Amino acid sequence: MNYKETMNKPNIKPSDMKPIVCEDCGGMYFRQVMAINKVSKFLTGQDKDTMVPVPVFRCDDCGSIPDEFQPIKLKKNDRKDT
Ligand SMILES: [Zn+2]
Repeated sequence: MNYKETMNKPNIKPSDMKPIVCEDCGGMYFRQVMAINKVSKFLTGQDKDTMVPVPVFRCDDCGSIPDEFQPIKLKKNDRKDT
């Protein structure tokens, strides 16, 4: 599901809303932070790398970022069973 589409729908009833809950700690409150992405100057043709701020929400309790808020899927959790 594309959540941007959902936000643009005009008639949303309270019963249609589902709170997002932190998968790690069950917290319901999130804080907006900025992820800064750097775009290489070789891609943009500028003489400096370009900084692109992307707003993300992270759990106010444990700092975890739910999957649906991840602006970019990072491969930090490449799981290899040991
Ligand atoms: Zn949490």
